[in-house]
Amino acid sequence: MGIINFNLSNHFNDLISASVYSKKKSSLNENEFALPKQTHSSNVIFVKKPGIYENVDGLISSKKYKVPLIIQTADCVPIFIFDFKTRYYGIVHSGWRGTKNKILLNALNILIHKFKSCPKNILIALGPHIKKCCYEVDWDVAQYFKNIRLDKNNNKWFLSLSDEIKSDILKMNIPDKNFHSSEVCTFESNDCQSFRRDGLKSERMIGIIR
Ligand SMILES: [Zn+2]
Repeated sequence: MGIINFNLSNHFNDLISASVYSKKKSSLNENEFALPKQTHSSNVIFVKKPGIYENVDGLISSKKYKVPLIIQTADCVPIFIFDFKTRYYGIVHSGWRGTKNKILLNALNILIHKFKSCPKNILIALGPHIKKCCYEVDWDVAQYFKNIRLDKNNNKWFLSLSDEIKSDILKMNIPDKNFHSSEVCTFESNDCQSFRRDGLKSERMIGIIR
């Protein structure tokens, strides 16, 4: 597989670069990037320099520090955040646990309360992830969400993480037009890494905002 790049920068009016691509994680250099050690937590921190950050699934920084932020996913949602007025930006890893525990709201609360963002200036884009067409879950997971659909034929639930995330950000008064979600489903697209599809053989998608 070559390197496929999903570019989301146009959603940010090219004021910041945001993309997701497939690449082996061994090539990521901690001297160059801010790399979270992800644990499906809802922890978000503010960083000013490259390095490895333990037990976090979301990073925030500002244009003035010029630090590229990385998140790694394989079906979970990579969320990109940018305030075009303050020039603060962030990246979040949101699977079902992160979405249930509102990790994105933790990131947005840091932007709004610590760095004086106005919700109307915050742009949000979701990269490729497993979509409601393919994200089958049991009730033990489905019970936490509203955007679920029951397939009565086999008694399975299908979950839309993007709809869950969208309804969370609308509650924060971020306008609908500031939200964008990739239509690419990682489970169906062979250009994507999918843990559901490929299990332990799967690599990771690298989300980067800089
Ligand atoms: Zn699908």
